[in-house]
Amino acid sequence: MGKIIAIANQKGGVGKTTTAVNLAASLAATKRQVLLIDLDPQGNATMGSGIDKYDVHATCYELLVEEKPFEDVVCKDTSGIYHLIAANTDVTAAEIKLMEFFAREQRLKNALAPIRANYDYIIIDCPPSLNMLTVNAMTAADSVLVPMQCEYYALEGLTALMDTISQLQAVVNGDLAIEGILRTMYDPRNRLANDVSEQLKRHFGDKVYRTVIPRNVRLAEAPSFGAPVMYYDKSSTGAKAYLALAGEMLRKKEPVKHAS
Ligand code: ADP
Ligand code: MG
Repeated sequence: MGKIIAIANQKGGVGKTTTAVNLAASLAATKRQVLLIDLDPQGNATMGSGIDKYDVHATCYELLVEEKPFEDVVCKDTSGIYHLIAANTDVTAAEIKLMEFFAREQRLKNALAPIRANYDYIIIDCPPSLNMLTVNAMTAADSVLVPMQCEYYALEGLTALMDTISQLQAVVNGDLAIEGILRTMYDPRNRLANDVSEQLKRHFGDKVYRTVIPRNVRLAEAPSFGAPVMYYDKSSTGAKAYLALAGEMLRKKEPVKHAS
């Protein structure tokens, strides 16, 4: 049965989409069957996969609101190694439309139930807020992967996110686990980043991935090339870091549950 991982952090610009796209590609490179779901109306994971968000036949709107069959909504990234459910500004309307439905937080979970077994990993790129789309992701997911930048206010934001996850565990998904906390855009020469990193390890222990994603311009350039970084520059430190993350994830057998 495919494992469903939501990539979430209510803060924008922390590397959620970069992680979703490059982790999907790296897992696919290890011959896993991977589905990437773009739940952010900005459609950055869609564009980063080389799919034109203005020229897609369907998005997660059709899946969540219109209940179109999965096969009619799914497409492939340009390199053809993983499957994608796209997003664009149409998805903004889904947020509002979902409110009309009974069991509105269950829509994604229900839509994925029939096809889950076809994949080893289903990666969900969440929007930078705790809206109904993110709640759908967290309801469908087995675990949450939290990318974060080691900055001054990062730990405060992380505590707020952990509280939210505890609430969701209590209300909609008792099985939701923390997959891991990922340090992104890391600069080891920055003393504050090292301090925050140490605090993070003290507080969250082995939930913090050993793999660190360095700041790497290739990661920022790859979306304009329309592909995950491993197809843009496979020898870059960014490509190697995301392959290492996939390896670490595959070695970790059971995600650790967040003690609430
Ligand atoms: P989010 O989805 O959390 O808003 P993104 O993944 O879109 O964050 O990243 C925000 C910006 O930072 C993007 O322009 C992206 O290309 C860039 N970026 C992300 N990770 C890195 C990295 N490790 N090194 C350099 N730039 C990065
Ligand atoms: Mg994003």
